[in-house]
Amino acid sequence: MKTSHVVPAAFIALALSACGQGGDSDRGDVKGATIGIAMPTKSSERWIADGANVKKELEAKGYKTKVVFGEDDPDQQVSQIENLITQGVKALVIAAIDNKSLNNVVQQAADADIPVIAYDRLILGTKNVDYYASFDNEKVGELQGGYIAKKLGLEDDSKKGPFNIELFAGSNDDNNTRYFFKGAMKILQPYFDKKQLVVRSGQTELNRVTTLRWDGATAQKRMEDILTSSYKQGKVDAVLSPYDGISIGIISALRSDAYGSKTKPWPVITGQDAELASVKSIISGEQTQTVYKDLRKLAKVTAGMVDSALKGKKPLINDTKSYDNRVKVVPAYLLQPVSVDKSNYKEVLVGGGWYSEDELK
Ligand code: BGC
Repeated sequence: MKTSHVVPAAFIALALSACGQGGDSDRGDVKGATIGIAMPTKSSERWIADGANVKKELEAKGYKTKVVFGEDDPDQQVSQIENLITQGVKALVIAAIDNKSLNNVVQQAADADIPVIAYDRLILGTKNVDYYASFDNEKVGELQGGYIAKKLGLEDDSKKGPFNIELFAGSNDDNNTRYFFKGAMKILQPYFDKKQLVVRSGQTELNRVTTLRWDGATAQKRMEDILTSSYKQGKVDAVLSPYDGISIGIISALRSDAYGSKTKPWPVITGQDAELASVKSIISGEQTQTVYKDLRKLAKVTAGMVDSALKGKKPLINDTKSYDNRVKVVPAYLLQPVSVDKSNYKEVLVGGGWYSEDELK
């Protein structure tokens, strides 16, 4: 074989792209490049805010952006991302609808040397995800479970109870679902073991309590069925809900069954995302708690990851072990969630500039 000391440019490009999974390949001049942002749905406020925040942060770094929303339809999300690749985006930020449906399309991205940042929801079963930006998702569940334990007085009194609790989890195709549930159950399990907490419906396994696509109406229906089958007598004292939109469905079912009255007070009901209607519901005493995640910080971290990946620099990473996507452990930056209820919403949400006092009226 003929050897040469001159390494062809094409070979260098190939070698660099091969190590591109670590984000350490310099992709040349990326000034003004367009970044594709694929969000799952407009049906929840948070993702609309995410789309706008990530766009703003990337534009502040001099990039152009294209934002698409997948209407909670995995096929639609795949074709939207294919279109973004065809349109020549230089990096992709993806919040997956179905964590396992994206393998082909992220392979197409890798083939075109486009780095992929998994945004809030990890993409599973592929090596073609460079970084993951999210919150400490197990902690979210711990905050929900811990809130229930505290509010029912279980933490301070080992004789309290038994209380009736029902469990809800998120969509089974969202990787976060099992982290939220695991975190909550870690806190609640000892109280189940001591019979201080009882699930009358008997539905305790994750695969029996998930809510496809986080749909509030689906949760409402399940809560109605549980009330009919298991609460002809007695009442529900707590509901573990992983997301505000699901809590709204649960509250509707409870309201139809005369909860929220003198004889049947609202159970403790958790949530997540601090969506406007749910914060108002907390203020008026229906929902009890939510978990707030500052999406502005998430957008900043994400834009930093995109910029680093394109410029061959190491991005900010604070976790290299928690998020194994079954092919590799994806380097992540995890932010901290905060529990919010009536006692601290002003300080956290108004003080933190997320809502104004007026919006919450
Ligand atoms: C997010 C939550 C959100 C849920 C439903 C999850 O992946 O982490 O913040 O409540 O999706 O949209």
